[in-house]
Amino acid sequence: MNTQSLLSVVHLKKYFPVGGGSLFKARRYLRANDDISFDIYEGETFGLVGESGSGKSTLGRTLLRLYEPTSGQILYRGNHDKEVDLTQLKGEELRKLRSDLQMIFQDPYSSLNPRMTVGQIVEEGVATHKYYRRGTPQMREYVLKVMQDCGLQAEALHRYPHQFSGGQRQRVCIARALAVRPKFIVCDECVSALDASIQSQILNLLAELKEKEKLTYLFISHDLSVVRHISDRIAVMYLGNIVEMGTAKQVFENPRHPYTIALMSAVPSMKAEREKKIVLGGNMPSPVSPPSGCKFHTRCFMACEKCKRVPPPFTEIEKGHFAACHFADKPTAEKRRIAESNEGQTKKFL
Ligand code: SF4
Repeated sequence: MNTQSLLSVVHLKKYFPVGGGSLFKARRYLRANDDISFDIYEGETFGLVGESGSGKSTLGRTLLRLYEPTSGQILYRGNHDKEVDLTQLKGEELRKLRSDLQMIFQDPYSSLNPRMTVGQIVEEGVATHKYYRRGTPQMREYVLKVMQDCGLQAEALHRYPHQFSGGQRQRVCIARALAVRPKFIVCDECVSALDASIQSQILNLLAELKEKEKLTYLFISHDLSVVRHISDRIAVMYLGNIVEMGTAKQVFENPRHPYTIALMSAVPSMKAEREKKIVLGGNMPSPVSPPSGCKFHTRCFMACEKCKRVPPPFTEIEKGHFAACHFADKPTAEKRRIAESNEGQTKKFL
């Protein structure tokens, strides 16, 4: 695997104000991304998993500057000669880099303008970034080629989004992103709304395009089977933080964070037949007032007194495999045994 970093995320925070801020009441914040640091390597698919509300979509949008970061750095090295901090770019500088950094959304229908034909949708960014001029034969030829690369027939050129199936619409979104020659694409739950057979067609298309166009993906999904299928490395998010990160093999075959172990036990194809599903107690706490110490301690089957007070460090267990848990070095099997003997109850040690 190429380990040259395309993006380095350094202590990134994204907080949303949620009321307060008056003379009598301190401002309160929803901590969607709470001090996140990691690298995305050139040419890899970096999978990001976690329950809804864990902050993964916010992270994807913040990396692309669709949300303004609260603090931290996003160091981008797509232009080989120099490193730029995306958080510092403004106006024209940011606009120029927009073609490098693209996004494919979950719901292709709402992200496509219903009044534009597929041809107009695909050519829009191409014209904005001045690769070709609208109405020229070169533009038409280029748009048709991109459409063909994405599995769309030439007759789709003059049709509207509502005339397509969900899978075909997602191909239009991929073509729109690809047309501006990006280097990095955030795929945010981009196959979640599709049937299983269509999902695999789109995943195969993304994999093909990645090789052909030398793309790098951040692939966000709540579906672990999908992420496993496509990712080189994976990060697991919980309540605004990455709690485990490693190669797909490390995280899926040897998960070390109790949250990752519980998530995987809920996917039938990822556990041995005799293993039980680990039921986590309660819901995810509010990111406005997260628990002290380890944020997972209110639901963790291994939580102890220390977990309530002391945030665990993000420890490297083996080369490239990290987990934020005071018991990161305890083997996976032992943790499963504890969870199962606990029969899904949390707070055994509290
Ligand atoms: Fe569970 Fe404690 Fe590890 Fe947090 S630090 S995941 S509460 S065992």
